[in-house]
Amino acid sequence: MGQETVFIGFGSNMGDRQDFCDRAIALMNLLPASQLTGVSSYYETEPIDPTSELGSTWFYNGVVRIETKLTPRKLLEICQETERSLGRDPEHRKGPRTMDLDILFYGQEKIDQPGLTIPHPRLHLRRFVLVPLAELAPEWNHPTFNQSVKDLLDSLDDPGQVRKSDILPGSSYGARPTCTPS
Ligand code: ADP
Ligand code: MG
Repeated sequence: MGQETVFIGFGSNMGDRQDFCDRAIALMNLLPASQLTGVSSYYETEPIDPTSELGSTWFYNGVVRIETKLTPRKLLEICQETERSLGRDPEHRKGPRTMDLDILFYGQEKIDQPGLTIPHPRLHLRRFVLVPLAELAPEWNHPTFNQSVKDLLDSLDDPGQVRKSDILPGSSYGARPTCTPS
């Protein structure tokens, strides 16, 4: 089976949002038949519609890059299990969420199956996805539009605010490498 480059978007707007993002990344780092090869900065982002069920709390969002031999279906299952393991309430899917994981790209594949659409059908409309994606892979081609992530971002009409955070991914674990000579 071949290996593909995959981008997964993560977002949290409930509870300790930074810690949920750190945990999601730690779990993405443990995927079988896969390697985590990139993590964007964290971005604090405005909810699309503060009056919706989603609530008015700002999100922490970001994107990871993974090289994987897992199939798109298997990856979706693992993303959904990971959301559940981080406490996402499946009864209120549209409400505030401890963790949302969306498969953005799976190589250059186009998939349209019940419950699974890749590229993610709204990624090109969302600043909170395109900004962290552009940090990892500005030249990545969107196979449906045949445009780079950077070009999609340049022509984007989304007023949602996206602010780069100073918080380093993984820092709630004290995961920053330290090298103290003894
Ligand atoms: P949203 O992320 O749009 O707020 P949910 O996280 O509740 O919504 O996801 C709703 C459904 O989207 C999931 O049950 C899943 O089957 C489906 N889905 C379709 N394509 C994708 C994808 N590329 N990545 C993740 N979920 C997807
Ligand atoms: Mg989702």
